[in-house]
Amino acid sequence: MKRLLLILLATIASVASISAQEVKNIIYLIGDGMGLASVSMMQLENLYETTIFDRAENIALQKTYSLDNRVTDSAASGTALATGTKTNNTMLGMTPDGTALESLMDMASHEGKATGLVVTTYIQHATPAAFYAHARSRHEYTSIAEQLLKSDIDIAIGGGMAFFDECYGDHKEAIKAIADSGFVLHADLDTEDDAERQLYILADKEIEAREGYLAKATAKALAHLEGDDDGFVLMVEGSLIDGMGHGNDAKGQQGEMHDFMEAIEVAVEYAEEHPGTLVVVTADHETGGLSIVSNNADFNLSEQGVEYRWTTDGHSGVMVPIYLYGTGAERINGIMENSTLGEKLKNIISVHP
Ligand SMILES: [Zn+2]
Repeated sequence: MKRLLLILLATIASVASISAQEVKNIIYLIGDGMGLASVSMMQLENLYETTIFDRAENIALQKTYSLDNRVTDSAASGTALATGTKTNNTMLGMTPDGTALESLMDMASHEGKATGLVVTTYIQHATPAAFYAHARSRHEYTSIAEQLLKSDIDIAIGGGMAFFDECYGDHKEAIKAIADSGFVLHADLDTEDDAERQLYILADKEIEAREGYLAKATAKALAHLEGDDDGFVLMVEGSLIDGMGHGNDAKGQQGEMHDFMEAIEVAVEYAEEHPGTLVVVTADHETGGLSIVSNNADFNLSEQGVEYRWTTDGHSGVMVPIYLYGTGAERINGIMENSTLGEKLKNIISVHP
């Protein structure tokens, strides 16, 4: 009898340890255009004090090239990260022959999980759209707006009212279409509602004044999603890091990186308090070809300042980092394709892989 009891206790303990290892929630943070030099710049600007990147429990690297270009755009790389399959530049959520791809969000919804998107740009922009839309061109904004309303996304926070208005003819019709879709529409991040589907559209296009916005919106989305007992997948994009790279604006990029890092901190804190949560931080590609060079090439001398030097106003083809925190952080390792990361995340949350 005593022996039976011991066996029973051991079985319960091993089941408990397996379920403690299970990844129930994924928070996927994508810094659009964030290269390793962007991260290095923040470490340097932070006087090498510990940043949220330095606290990663595991790291990996991904290759960003698309099917038709060694330098990807955000549509092809977003599709790879969201669906696990590479495609051509400008294409969203489909292969070059037009076959629709299942995204991480689609899969999470099928598994009964809640899903959310938080961005600083318009919600129809390439990176978030790759998680819910299928389009030959990322510029089909009105079709993408309509596809968001027809998707299973439970909460979306960002800009992009202009594209809903354009899609449905005018603002009044857009508001009606959004209500008919089951989303409760908010124009202010501070308004509350306990309905299942929440749409916070805070600007016509990008969100302009956004001091502390990304961290606050991330916390808001987490508070909404954690109500689902089956778990959730949340994608958070630091959307405008890319624009500062295109503009070769180091100070501007530091501001966008700062906002993004605050959102990562919210996610990591959530994971620490909620075992079963995996936090994945990566980029879709690098923008600007940023390098950090010494003002004096003679290294026999002590430092005489460094310069942030940009090599392009477009994207580059260098690998980008992946930072992992929380439950399952050890499951993503090494050097991989961007699509492999998307595929791995789909496998990790799939109850029936
Ligand atoms: Zn870009």
